[in-house]
Amino acid sequence: MRKHIVAGNWKMNLTFDQANELAEQLMDALEKCNLNKTELIVCPPFPYLELLSDFGSDSYFMVGAQNVNDNERGAYTGEVSAEMLASLELTHCIVGHSERRLYYGETNEQIAHKVDHLLGHNIKPIVCCGEVLEEREAGKQFEVVERQLKEGLFHLSERAFGNIIIAYEPVWAIGTGKTATPQQAQEMHAFIRGLIRGRYGATTADDTSILYGGSCKPNNAKELFANPDVDGGLIGGASLKADDFVAIALSF
Ligand code: PEP
Repeated sequence: MRKHIVAGNWKMNLTFDQANELAEQLMDALEKCNLNKTELIVCPPFPYLELLSDFGSDSYFMVGAQNVNDNERGAYTGEVSAEMLASLELTHCIVGHSERRLYYGETNEQIAHKVDHLLGHNIKPIVCCGEVLEEREAGKQFEVVERQLKEGLFHLSERAFGNIIIAYEPVWAIGTGKTATPQQAQEMHAFIRGLIRGRYGATTADDTSILYGGSCKPNNAKELFANPDVDGGLIGGASLKADDFVAIALSF
């Protein structure tokens, strides 16, 4: 059966010293609690990946990147490849975050290439999908998410798809303090699972973890995670506070 996963996306925040301090606070908090079977993933900015990997090596949490380039290697100044991430022994990488789609024009086609490179290096992609406010107001959220998944992911074989984690993140809920209601989250997660079932069959659909992201906090995580098709969260702002992040992880 699928796993419960809580992943923290630190985005472009914190200096090296602050990242070190947050990692220490996280270790302290995790030492005192029992996460049961919930998997924890921390996705810091690129320069701190190795630092976090050192903290994560005793298995309280795994470490992921926030992005990867869609080429294997070469003359792409300032970019980071899946091969480089694999050489740091990272386990996960976020792909297609709405901030990448909106600010850097990332397309579903590029996302498909990124996913392929990551899987080629045994890194599990956390693939983000979700509609913007105008799309939801126009009732197009299902159409939008379906296209993102079909164009970004459904080229994969059933076996490859088994390594995918999906994060449904309604863009209007990210960093806005406006959370999707538990009903809205469940409705979309069930829809996504239905799409996976249609493409890959019931076993793969039942085994795929689908995370919710968008202003998930300690005070609303329990209600969101209580939904049958919500298997955890991708957490932005609240992952920058060790106690909040751990409280969310304990919300199952
Ligand atoms: C995110 O960026 O993936 C996110 C969910 O951010 P926040 O929790 O701050 O809304």
